Amino acid sequence: MKYANSVYEGFEFYPACEEETNRKQKVVKTRKPHWCSMCEKDLDAGNTMLKESAFMDGLPVSSYICIDCCDKTIDEINALCGDGDAHD
Ligand SMILES: [Zn+2]
Repeated sequence: MKYANSVYEGFEFYPACEEETNRKQKVVKTRKPHWCSMCEKDLDAGNTMLKESAFMDGLPVSSYICIDCCDKTIDEINALCGDGDAHD
């Protein structure tokens, strides 16, 4: 993890979809295996992932993104939007 939890939780990884309400993102330690909705890799329980949850048509829906994908996405956005001197 390269960023603080609040960065992951505040970042919009997908554009909001109109049917979704009550959308939340939270960094969690998984208690069951989940697959990442970006790279589609399976991750075992006990991994840190970003959980996205929302209600669609009144039903709860959730998906998970692995931290690797989160980091890559945030890095890309930072590279596009940044002034270019943030390389490490
Ligand atoms: Zn992933």
